[in-house]
Amino acid sequence: MFSCLLCENETCYVSKWCDSCREIKNIMNVYGAKKVNNIVKRVCVRNQDQVDNKIKLEKDKQDKEEKEAKELEEKLKKQINKNEKK
Ligand SMILES: [Zn+2]
Repeated sequence: MFSCLLCENETCYVSKWCDSCREIKNIMNVYGAKKVNNIVKRVCVRNQDQVDNKIKLEKDKQDKEEKEAKELEEKLKKQINKNEKK
């Protein structure tokens, strides 16, 4: 019984890599390890400012969705009231 050489988390019986890591390995084979490494660092490794900004963006997005849901609910309630009066 071996663990995956990349994530060191999953158990592998026949391969060196688990299915997820095999996919990553395939991408590395196509684009090169250096390019994949750069992309992972650029996307996944964040400094505190970037983390704070991402949190703010997610919160703004959530607030907007909640506002839209409330507006839709109000609209539907008005529509229902209008239909009941007919
Ligand atoms: Zn793995």
